[in-house]
Amino acid sequence: MQYYSTNQQAPMATLEKAVVKGLAEDRGLYMPERIKALPQSFFDNIHQLTFREIACEVADAFFGEDVPREDLHKIVCDTLSFDVPAVRVTDRIYSLELFHGPTLAFKDVGARFMARLLGYFNAKGQQAGDAKGRVNVLVATSGDTGSAVANGFLGVPGIHVYVLYPKGKVSPIQECQFTTLGQNITALEVDGVFDDCQALVKSAFMDAELNAHMKLTSANSINVARFLPQSFYYFYAYAQMKKLGLADELVVCVPSGNFGNICSALFGVKMGLPIKRFIAANNANDIFYNYLQTGRYEPKASVQTIANAMDVGDPSNFARIYELYHKDHAAICRDISGATYSDEQIAQTMRECLEQTGYQLDPHGACGYRALQEGLREQETGIFLETAHPAKFKGVVDSICGGDVAIPEKLAAFMKGQKQSVEIGKDFEGFKKFLMNE
Ligand SMILES: *Cc1c(COP(=O)(O)O)cnc(C)c1O
Repeated sequence: MQYYSTNQQAPMATLEKAVVKGLAEDRGLYMPERIKALPQSFFDNIHQLTFREIACEVADAFFGEDVPREDLHKIVCDTLSFDVPAVRVTDRIYSLELFHGPTLAFKDVGARFMARLLGYFNAKGQQAGDAKGRVNVLVATSGDTGSAVANGFLGVPGIHVYVLYPKGKVSPIQECQFTTLGQNITALEVDGVFDDCQALVKSAFMDAELNAHMKLTSANSINVARFLPQSFYYFYAYAQMKKLGLADELVVCVPSGNFGNICSALFGVKMGLPIKRFIAANNANDIFYNYLQTGRYEPKASVQTIANAMDVGDPSNFARIYELYHKDHAAICRDISGATYSDEQIAQTMRECLEQTGYQLDPHGACGYRALQEGLREQETGIFLETAHPAKFKGVVDSICGGDVAIPEKLAAFMKGQKQSVEIGKDFEGFKKFLMNE
């Protein structure tokens, strides 16, 4: 399968190139040239299949031409080492809990898959005599991406990860998830802000001497290997709801920031997944919501909210959605409606849901739950994505709900680990010198 750029100004790429490069030469996003429909028999029997069986079938459609079946299925099964259960919150609203992975957030799925696929390509390259050896992943983080990527790549042979994060500016819970790992993960504590970290990574990719010295790649969320595997759990969500007899008019609500998550679901629909419609739930960053209302896409500076993983003012995957629907605003509006909530509304929803149902939402999932409560029509059943465990935002959640959210064992284990990090300045020369000596 070949991949083309949404900007149409770059040559087609193989899967391997698209995964290693991340972004096309024209700064566009890679799209698969074809999206294969899955047979009706698959959907007829889907409720009898396991998550891994479903995911292997979907992965075959995306990657089966480029990765041998046995290798691909191993990558899928290793990725999905945890369940994604659909949990009842009310009679008509279910929560798809995506937080049972190693870092308790949905980004675990994409990060784990990408790490294993990159590991596969790297091993293949070495067999073919590629002397440059190990692949070095550079990732700048303001908190959550670093932990999902570091844990996704932990222990994957042939790959080393450098996580750059702003000193003193990520929460202790977030910091321990990428500074205590050791092995093939190095945490670099940058004396600066997130933008400095990102600038260092960008400079590294552009530095000819450094690139001649070592193989560098990014694990950005726009990478096809991080984004496409997210479609797996929409198929599984449908299967679970079908088993309950609740899938005939299924509405899926996705708390959205960069729109990668919802976009992977739309790929699923193109493959035949019978979801009736979608709701994209935003926090106060309402760029997509406004696009649906007006037909105009007008990026803005992001505003800070309590659902901070959705604080995005120029969602990068909008380009993919636009491409998928041939730039047809009316067609996009037929499949997706929007919602946008202030911090006060998010907090109120978290309190009310806990009181009325006993279910503890995190601030991101709260946007999804509320949009279903307000937007479900007669006969429809809704499922929203609970994108992170509430304990990841313990400070905010406890102060809103007045409780004491229990910290899951997995998270507590990170907090017991020994912090290991290397302090660096925000000047590129110092960072480069460090990498040249690695
Ligand atoms: C990344 C993230 C989101 C937003 O997902 P997109 O794919 O960027 O739309 C929502 N919730 C949480 C907890 C996240 O980490």
